[in-house]
Parts: sequence; structure tokens; C-alpha cells
Amino acid sequence: MTIALIAHDAKKELMIQFCIAYCGILSRHILCATGTTGKQVAESTGLRIQQYLSGSQGGDQQIAARISCNEIDILLFFRDPITRKATEPNEMNLLRLCDVHNVPVATNIATAEALIMALERGDLDWREIGNPSI
Ligand code: PGA
Repeated sequence: MTIALIAHDAKKELMIQFCIAYCGILSRHILCATGTTGKQVAESTGLRIQQYLSGSQGGDQQIAARISCNEIDILLFFRDPITRKATEPNEMNLLRLCDVHNVPVATNIATAEALIMALERGDLDWREIGNPSI
């Protein structure tokens, strides 16, 4: 499975802690991330992560393009729900594309843990067999 990681600045430490906690599971999958998130998680965990541009430079849109091509199986997008960002319309589009392509997406750590557990149990294997949205 291919898992994309994005964390707003206020949530980067949480993403790092999450990835440390689930490093064993995550290491068995292909990971990609926006620039700063990927760099910080890779440095803290040793996980191999394909790093796109920083979110502000279009990294989230690079991930959105991969979602459109059905190349992403899970999106973990730890959003800061308090601070408004100039890139918000792009982020809404990212979430919209997940709905279009039936990509499981977590926007907070509680859902992310549920998804990782489901991934480990094999509950998301249908993503590999065939996406019902195609
Ligand atoms: P970053 O991008 O990982 O490059 O910081 C995420 C974001 O859009 O904040």
C-alpha cells in the first residue's frame, strides 16, 4: 500500500510521534509526504519517505495528482483546525479527491490509528484488489 503523510505545522510533532509509534507497520508500506513533514518524520524514524515539495510550494497538489491517478491508498492528513491557511482551498480539493476515489483518509490521530489498525488486519486489502470507484 502507498500511504501519503501531510501535517500542518501545529500537528507535525503529533505526526512524528504517530509514525514512531507505528513505525513497524509503516515500514512495510510505501510512504510519501509533503516536504517538511516527510523530512521531519524521516529524520525522527529512519523510515524511507518519498518527499514532495513543501505544502506551500505545491506538495499537497502533487499528492492530490497521485490520488487522482489512484496511486495513493491511504492519506493521513493531520490538519490544524484552528489556524486558517491560505492553502485551504487546495486542502479542501485534496479531501474532495479522496472522496471521489474512495481513498481512506484520516484528518486526526484517532482516525489515523483506526486506519492503521485496519491496514494491519488486512481490512483495506480491497484497495489492492480493485477500487470500486473505477
Ligand atoms: P509541509 O506541508 O509538510 O511541507 O510543511 C504541509 C502543509 O501544507 O502545511
